[in-house]
Amino acid sequence: MAELGLLGANLPEKYGCAGVNNVAYGLMMQELERGDSGIRSFASVQGALVMYPIYAFGSETQRRKWLPALANGEKIGCFGLTEPDHGSDPGGMETTAVKDGNNYILNGAKMWITNGSVADVAVVWAKLDGVVRGFLVEKGASGFSAPEMMNKHSLRASVTSELVFQDCRIPADNLLPESKGLASPLSCLTQARYGIAWGVIGAAMACYHEALTYAKTRIQFNKPIASFQLVQQKLVYMLTEITKMQLLALQLGRLKDQKKMKFTQVSLAKRNNVYQALEIARLARDMLGANGITSEYQSMRHMCNLETVKTYEGTHDIHTLIIGGDVTGIPAFS
Ligand SMILES: Cc1cc2nc3c(=O)[nH]c(=O)nc-3n(C[C@H](O)[C@H](O)[C@H](O)COP(=O)(O)OP(=O)(O)OC[C@H]3O[C@@H](n4cnc5c(N)ncnc54)[C@H](O)[C@@H]3O)c2cc1C
Repeated sequence: MAELGLLGANLPEKYGCAGVNNVAYGLMMQELERGDSGIRSFASVQGALVMYPIYAFGSETQRRKWLPALANGEKIGCFGLTEPDHGSDPGGMETTAVKDGNNYILNGAKMWITNGSVADVAVVWAKLDGVVRGFLVEKGASGFSAPEMMNKHSLRASVTSELVFQDCRIPADNLLPESKGLASPLSCLTQARYGIAWGVIGAAMACYHEALTYAKTRIQFNKPIASFQLVQQKLVYMLTEITKMQLLALQLGRLKDQKKMKFTQVSLAKRNNVYQALEIARLARDMLGANGITSEYQSMRHMCNLETVKTYEGTHDIHTLIIGGDVTGIPAFS
């Protein structure tokens, strides 16, 4: 991926990144997720959740140190926001940082962290004097461990880990100086959700093509199943929804390039596109009959992956509340 320039591809060339526009970046995410949501997740975390916060909230020294190495794949990063007791409500986080001379001491735990146990650097969000700030925790820091989480039925191509901080000591220089409050990690999520809105189109396309190919060759009642009206209706539904998802993502990318994109629009696209991709994966699985439950075919793998994508980066219902709050002016989170 690094050789192809896919990591942090929409960040500037002066930091070793490809500097492509946001539509091109989105198409990269689409093609990665056509393969597997776990592969796209790796690229999303590295680019949108590790490189972006270092670019947006880091010092120039931090940018020069980390961005080229993360772009060329020499270093891998992870993003620690979710905690065992705080998922949809990250503002309730319990991880703390306390200044101690030239160090910060971190205590707490993060959970469900993509790339956690393979990462060289973790962007960790913790409360310093009650305010959420971002910290760079390097592999091997004292009091830091990242045990891998096992037994997932979804996103199996992606490493998921806990991050544990027990009096973890890091240099004071590892604070991201421009990070201030919960808005900082949330702005990273906006970047990643943008990539998801594109990525899941790829998973839906893979399922559509598999179902179409299968329907043309699978014979029942002496005819290809593609000749039955109910099967054609499913294929038409898939194609229509994929086209709408693409148009939504394309318009969002153009707005992002013009710096006019709003986070509520990203919520709308993430919510809609993941929902429709999951519907399409389920329909494709159905059209494959019994064969569809095996690993010989990919639709069920995409379907299981998309259950994670529906949950992470703000669940489907949390995005409903974000959009609902925007259209009514009344927040309904609690
Ligand atoms: C494979 C995987 C990888 C992940 N990678 C990362 C990562 O790299 N970094 C990271 O920080 N996190 C990561 N996550 C965590 C992910 O972002 C959280 O799982 C997600 O935010 C949801 O939190 P939760 O699982 O605690 O669910 P909860 O917040 O407990 O939600 C459970 C249910 O309650 C609903 N709910 C919650 N609050 C409300 C409300 N106010 N109104 C209505 N319904 C509500 C939710 O919609 C959901 O249906 C990952 C998760 C997975 C599964």
